[in-house]
Amino acid sequence: MSLIEKCPNGHPVKVHERHFGHRVRCPRCQTVFKVPVPARRELTESSVLRILGDYSPEDSEEAMARRAVAIDWDSADSTRRCPRCGADVKAAFRICPQCHVYMPDLPNAAAG
Ligand SMILES: [Zn+2]
Ligand SMILES: [Zn+2]
Repeated sequence: MSLIEKCPNGHPVKVHERHFGHRVRCPRCQTVFKVPVPARRELTESSVLRILGDYSPEDSEEAMARRAVAIDWDSADSTRRCPRCGADVKAAFRICPQCHVYMPDLPNAAAG
């Protein structure tokens, strides 16, 4: 595997993969320059997404809580009980506003 890298003077230089991260000499202008190591594609893509928006690859508790706050809950009027702190939480909430524990979407009818 090889790629075309440009020397500081803009000349295309074919660089073999074993020279990635090493210094090579431009055959045109004899300038020695360091060849960057190509980043892995998946790392590049995820970092781009991070820059573009508030993208989180995994649904962390914190990310869900942040998202829950952004939603308008006016229509949610029924409540259920937080299994951790026992607070009455609106049924539409997945995250307890008191203790921030994640509550899966359980059936609303209280058992027992
Ligand atoms: Zn050059
Ligand atoms: Zn709670």
